[in-house]
Amino acid sequence: MIEQVNPGAAYRQHKQAIDAAVGRVLDSGWYILGPEVSAFESEFAAAMGSEFAVAVASGTDALELALRACCIGPGDRVATVAHTAVATVAAIVRSGALPVFVDIDPQTYTMDPAHLQQVIDSQPTGGIKAVVPVHLYGLPADMPAICEVAQCFDLVVIEDCAQAHGAAVADRKVGTLGDFGCFSFYPTKNLAAFGDAGALLCHRESQYDQLRSLRQYGWVRRSISENPRAVNSRLDEIQAAILRVKLPYLEMENQQRQSLAERYTRLLQNSESIRCPQWVAGRQHVFHQYVIRVHERERLMHELQRQGIATAIHYPLPVHRQPAYCAADYTPLDLPVTERVCGQILSLPMYPQLTLAAVETTATALCSLVENQ
Ligand SMILES: *Cc1c(COP(=O)(O)O)cnc(C)c1O
Repeated sequence: MIEQVNPGAAYRQHKQAIDAAVGRVLDSGWYILGPEVSAFESEFAAAMGSEFAVAVASGTDALELALRACCIGPGDRVATVAHTAVATVAAIVRSGALPVFVDIDPQTYTMDPAHLQQVIDSQPTGGIKAVVPVHLYGLPADMPAICEVAQCFDLVVIEDCAQAHGAAVADRKVGTLGDFGCFSFYPTKNLAAFGDAGALLCHRESQYDQLRSLRQYGWVRRSISENPRAVNSRLDEIQAAILRVKLPYLEMENQQRQSLAERYTRLLQNSESIRCPQWVAGRQHVFHQYVIRVHERERLMHELQRQGIATAIHYPLPVHRQPAYCAADYTPLDLPVTERVCGQILSLPMYPQLTLAAVETTATALCSLVENQ
């Protein structure tokens, strides 16, 4: 069986160090927001090239807290994409703000900056307070263009980096390009815990202090709440200790993903009915997912499954079509690219421990299936 993702393989690879780290925390008697969390925050900020990192309980919480730190809430609008994990939008809704959807670029599947400009023009002046570009599948969104639009309209830029740990635009890593970088360490992400975990990067000490207070009841001093919009979103010591074991391998594991992606593309690019992912000059792709576009996707998935090859769809239903978010308030302008792409995308097996042999098996199976279409 070739799995589509495989968090268990990551555990087995680092088992000794992870078991030791977990044991160390259990022995210490300190389980939430302690020395492991502080050390992870410093190490993660340094690895990403940022001034400050604040660890929280999930990627969704990281996005919500970035919005809360900017006092964005009821009455405000936030521009983002519908072609993303539903979490991006759930975080905006939980802050009290209204999501406004922007279409994606057909080559990169990330936010189309020209459409962002159109969406802003279509909204009440000053209604949109922030923009949340998503670095989907590991490819950075077009940050120079998005930041230029954001600057014109005085929007806060909150990067959703949940799929792009270590990806970069020129030599700056994602999460440092906007005002806040929000990360998830869900077990299948490029940097992964073995439970829920997340973090924010920010560049100003005032934001850092604000986020540390927001994640814990609005405390500035212990037991004294100073912010009624605060939540409880803390990282535990066990997950922080595990993340400290895995952080030093992030770059190498991203390179392994890139090598696997190159092999896939070499084997698939000559097939006329398969569209491979784009490499974009100046943007470093870390291949959280290797996503192709095909016709007759359901048949291909089924046939691959029969041959022991698992695939997935990220994501089958764009957020503006989800039952929770298709209410009138969220109805977007047309999102033709989002609609078209959603019906064709297919995520092939991708994780650092995947072998080149498994990539070849998958690509060979896929090529012979599309030839017989
Ligand atoms: C995983 C993910 C999130 C949410 O992270 P959680 O840790 O599951 O809350 C947000 N945005 C994107 C694009 C994701 O892939």
